[in-house]
Amino acid sequence: MGYREISLKLPTDYSGEQIRAQIAKELHIRDFTFQIENKSLDARKKTAVHWLIRVGVLSPELKGGEPEDLPSLDIPFRQRKERAVVVGSGPAGFFSAFALQKAGINTTLIERGSEVDKRAIGISEFESSGAFSPVSNYAFGEGGAGTFSDGKLTSRTKSITREKQFILSSYVRAGAPEEIGYMAHPHLGSDNLLNIVKNLREEFLEIGGCIRFETLLEDLVVSGGRAHEAVTAAGLIGADYFIIAPGHSAYETYRMLIRNGALFRAKPFAIGCRVEHPQALINMAQWGREKLPGVRAAEYRLTSPGDGNLPVYTFCMCPGGCIVPAAAYENTNIVNGMSRYKRDGKFANAACVAGISPAQLFGREIGPLEALDWLGALEESFYRYSAGYQAPFCAIQDFILRKMTSAVVESSYPLGLKPAPLWEMLPAVVSDSIAEGLRDFSRKVRGFEAGVIMGLESKTSAPVQALREPDGRCQGFDNLYIVGEGSGYAGGIISSGADGIRAAMNIIGKIS
Ligand SMILES: Cc1cc2nc3c(=O)[nH]c(=O)nc-3n(C[C@H](O)[C@H](O)[C@H](O)COP(=O)(O)OP(=O)(O)OC[C@H]3O[C@@H](n4cnc5c(N)ncnc54)[C@H](O)[C@@H]3O)c2cc1C
Repeated sequence: MGYREISLKLPTDYSGEQIRAQIAKELHIRDFTFQIENKSLDARKKTAVHWLIRVGVLSPELKGGEPEDLPSLDIPFRQRKERAVVVGSGPAGFFSAFALQKAGINTTLIERGSEVDKRAIGISEFESSGAFSPVSNYAFGEGGAGTFSDGKLTSRTKSITREKQFILSSYVRAGAPEEIGYMAHPHLGSDNLLNIVKNLREEFLEIGGCIRFETLLEDLVVSGGRAHEAVTAAGLIGADYFIIAPGHSAYETYRMLIRNGALFRAKPFAIGCRVEHPQALINMAQWGREKLPGVRAAEYRLTSPGDGNLPVYTFCMCPGGCIVPAAAYENTNIVNGMSRYKRDGKFANAACVAGISPAQLFGREIGPLEALDWLGALEESFYRYSAGYQAPFCAIQDFILRKMTSAVVESSYPLGLKPAPLWEMLPAVVSDSIAEGLRDFSRKVRGFEAGVIMGLESKTSAPVQALREPDGRCQGFDNLYIVGEGSGYAGGIISSGADGIRAAMNIIGKIS
């Protein structure tokens, strides 16, 4: 039996027969099996958009070669006496708890929000009535911030292949489509994510893990460079190791950690708004036509260097998705984006943000508490403007020209829009840069200026970073790890999950 990998160029609506026929023709073989290793859409030439597919082929008619083994995590299991508390059931918290429990460490996962079915009801009630739930919203609840998302699984970090593989194979076992293993831009969709999160929870419970929902970590009992107990309304939970993975939004949890001696610094971050267009307009701009059989919806990723201003880029694009009210606290108003697996909604949205350092924003260095206070106050100012959760919005053209002409527009945002001079609601340096970026994007994507821009997008990267020892521990602590997006070392589902796994592997390594 021999093995070869080859690249194929196939029409967007190729069939299984076509792929087999091309393999047979290229390799001059008839008896073979194949597996897709990589699949990406090549849309550089609008008249000839096609898939580029790399396949691994096994055949008795081939000589030599072997498929490469997938990188895997080696988690040594043994019954152990050590206990761990993990805080937060987002990708960072869940995957760290999962790895610890797989190693035999008695792990309790605590989550301030509700389990996912209850969370879905809370979100749906919020979107129909505007009644915000502190335990069932887009930021807090089972699965973390990424549960109601597009579920994009891209990560640009090369150093996390094993962790990424662990996450992807866990997702596939829990019901994710197998294509996430080979697509260049894989995504799960929020509809798949609900079941995946539930199935992963079942697997964690089956191997002996314990989960407590609607349980807020209020404080930590610390002394002598060690955390001893997690303080919750239901009582104290003692453990030998603590992994805290509270995500981007849990500002009061960060304040509590800082109060307890965890060291943080303010770091560069990004803020801006979210843009929205009819998906057909984006399809037309990217493919030269409104529909392309075999491809769900066109994407874009745009950057503008800033030329004297701040760099501006689009982020977390949700083709065929919708813009959602992503507030974590009742008195804040922010937006984010999500989509279903089919990406078949009428609109396309993406964050459009400027990257900024605290020194550029304040003209001086600031501490982490000031950074958190500043961001929280900005989120509250958007809430005050709307006196609720309508998204402040204007036409992209209006943002560029700084004048309000917008009246009623169609949008996917469920809680209504309120016309607003967004450029006045953001710091001037951010508005100037975004206006320049939008002008640039309108040159790159035909019709871009015809879209709308709305809300505050404040969650693309954390404004603070925990200081760590080289082995990942929180500086000054023997047994405390702060991980995931809010730790300032990760951003997105995969990198946050990988960060959590690394902390767990570190603990496992120590006690093995
Ligand atoms: C609407 C939306 C769409 C997104 N789309 C994508 C996407 O398509 N692809 C992508 O890669 N990323 C996406 N992101 C970002 C992604 O969700 C995050 O980067 C990722 O979830 C971070 O993982 P995490 O585990 O670090 O934190 P989180 O997922 O934020 O999880 C933190 C958890 O900790 C809990 N918690 C916080 N404080 C406490 C406490 N004191 N006690 C107990 N529990 C606590 C919270 O309730 C939460 O469940 C999206 C985010 C949002 C909001």
